[in-house]
Amino acid sequence: MKYYSLTNSYNTASFSEAVIQGLAPDRGLYFPESIPKLSDDFWSSFADKSMVEIGVDVMRPFVGGTIPDSRLQEIVADTLCFDFPVKKISNSISTLELFHGPTMAFKDVGGRFMARCIGYFNEKSPKKVTVLVATSGDTGGAVASGFLGIPGTEVIILYPKGKVSRIQELQLTTNGQNIKAIEVDGVFDDCQEMVKSAFIDEDLKARLNLTSANSINVARWLPQSLYFFAAVQQLQRIGIDKKLVFSVPSGNFGNICAGIVAKQLGLPISHFVASTNSNDTVPRYLKTEDYLPHPSKQTISNAMDVGNPSNFIRIQSLYNRDFNALKKEFSSRAYSDRKTKEALAEIYKKYNYIADPHGAVGYLGLQNFLKENPEHYGVFLETAHPIKFRDIVEETLSLELSIPAQIQHILDKTPEKTSLSGYEAFKEYLLSHTA
Ligand SMILES: *Cc1c(COP(=O)(O)O)cnc(C)c1O
Repeated sequence: MKYYSLTNSYNTASFSEAVIQGLAPDRGLYFPESIPKLSDDFWSSFADKSMVEIGVDVMRPFVGGTIPDSRLQEIVADTLCFDFPVKKISNSISTLELFHGPTMAFKDVGGRFMARCIGYFNEKSPKKVTVLVATSGDTGGAVASGFLGIPGTEVIILYPKGKVSRIQELQLTTNGQNIKAIEVDGVFDDCQEMVKSAFIDEDLKARLNLTSANSINVARWLPQSLYFFAAVQQLQRIGIDKKLVFSVPSGNFGNICAGIVAKQLGLPISHFVASTNSNDTVPRYLKTEDYLPHPSKQTISNAMDVGNPSNFIRIQSLYNRDFNALKKEFSSRAYSDRKTKEALAEIYKKYNYIADPHGAVGYLGLQNFLKENPEHYGVFLETAHPIKFRDIVEETLSLELSIPAQIQHILDKTPEKTSLSGYEAFKEYLLSHTA
């Protein structure tokens, strides 16, 4: 399997090249040249397969021979080391909980898979890979945890001082080993700029083997399709045989795009709803066919505060840029913070389930679709554990959340970080702290 750039399809790369480069040299996103259907053999034993067996079969064509099967098996087993349970909400709705990984948000699977692929690709190189990642919160934690202890790799996280929650900061600063955290005196955009400057700095390029762990990397994007296999397998096991609709709380649209890949591989899903907060570029596009990105707005579901979703172009490509074909299987709705809080309260009062603000947005999009299409069975994705948005959940539901083990164990660790500001200080740090 080759990948081509969505900017210029003549620029192609193997899986390993696409993973190491992140973006194509022409700045385009890499896209697989085909989505091969899974075999009849796969489907005839689907009900009894383990998640690792499914993971290897689904990822094998995408890896395209750049990782031997026995190693792919290890990478997938190491990636999927936690559960993705489907929990019943009502007679027509379930939720798929994607927050049981080490950092309690769904980015763990992509982070772990990518880290292990890079670890494998760099195994024979004498020079270690330095991964730079700027984060406004969740991504840095998942990337750090994914790369923790992977030989031949080192991660440097930049985050804006005082702009991440206490739990997020602990997730960034208490890893140790090959993970280092830098607190930048500035905002997220300053962190992002420092990373971008480092990538084009000739001194650094000569000395270090730099790469990025951006969410547009194919090794973070594609394994997310496994969530949908996990959900459909569980629903089939409990005898759900209605048409399935998935509502995915969406920001950069990577997760939902991976769901559409799963469908095109042959998974029986009839419709997708991309549920967004007030960052409504895609819902507006579906109404008007005009794609007009706005600057991002801050909301209570902040992991989805994206004004110009990078992966939407991949979704359009999955439908061969045919607007009407897209609209048949894909809809999108936006919800305000007020609606999101009302949904949190409704899910709790009616169904005794504590959602997080992102899951609540997903619930709203699902309810809307089911009202008009009652013959479907619906699943909304719970992309983060409510503890990660503790203040808003506790305040809206007037309760106190108990603290899960994954979070408890970092609470009494001492944060280790370097504070600096400006690119020159960052460059000096890179030159003196990495070798
Ligand atoms: C990243 C994230 C999202 C958005 O996922 P995309 O793939 O960017 O659409 C939703 N919820 C949570 C909790 C996230 O961390």
